Amino acid sequence: MAAGHNNVAAVGTSASNAKYGTSYLASYSQGTSHAQVAVLKANLRQYRSITPSYLWTSTTSLEGNTSNSFDAATKANLIVFQNNTGLTADGIYGAGSRNAMHASIGVSPKGWVRIFKSTPGYVNYNDTAEGLSADATYKLDHSWCTSACRDTLYSLGYSFYSYYNKLIQVNDACLLDGADTPEHSTHQTGTEVDIRNAGLTTAQATKFLEICIANANVKRVIYYTTHGLTSNKILVQSDHGDHFHVDTFS
Ligand SMILES: [Zn+2]
Repeated sequence: MAAGHNNVAAVGTSASNAKYGTSYLASYSQGTSHAQVAVLKANLRQYRSITPSYLWTSTTSLEGNTSNSFDAATKANLIVFQNNTGLTADGIYGAGSRNAMHASIGVSPKGWVRIFKSTPGYVNYNDTAEGLSADATYKLDHSWCTSACRDTLYSLGYSFYSYYNKLIQVNDACLLDGADTPEHSTHQTGTEVDIRNAGLTTAQATKFLEICIANANVKRVIYYTTHGLTSNKILVQSDHGDHFHVDTFS
């Protein structure tokens, strides 16, 4: 079972392994032997095949290297990957590298796309050091949604940015396969995503609600207050004090 991972080497914790019946490690590094290391090597071979060869001129090939052993060549290839994707190049495959691998070559069985790490409209909180730390219990990647939903996030964020020169922080959407996630009661359809309100003033939060209401693909926003706005798109729920939950039509 590869809940939340599909073709990309999976990471996990005791909590996520208990939930899904898996035996993933929180990280893999030189000396580790695990079935997911063979997957990681396949991922690195694929990534290497779609990136410029000059990146790899002094790095040992992983062609034919299909064992479960995390060897020096695996580490060397992972370091190139990490350098090229803006990660700390420590040669250790953990949740941050998994997210970047998802972004590079991940395939959603649902046909969904991964929310970008950053755009001129938003930052993906899941890919920040703070967000990764906040996901320590399960180490799942809740960054997947439909392409229409991702486009809508960009539109909402870009519009908000035009008022405040401030990027919204996109947090959890869905797992790439739509699996039930222990962190949310919903978030399985690819059309639901949380936006953090951390650092927003009341005026900014109100503006964000207005922008959501005006967007044709936004079906509903769940928030702890309407901030005085009148719209049947806003559903007030007291447990949504630190984020907006946005549902899109498609
Ligand atoms: Zn939500």
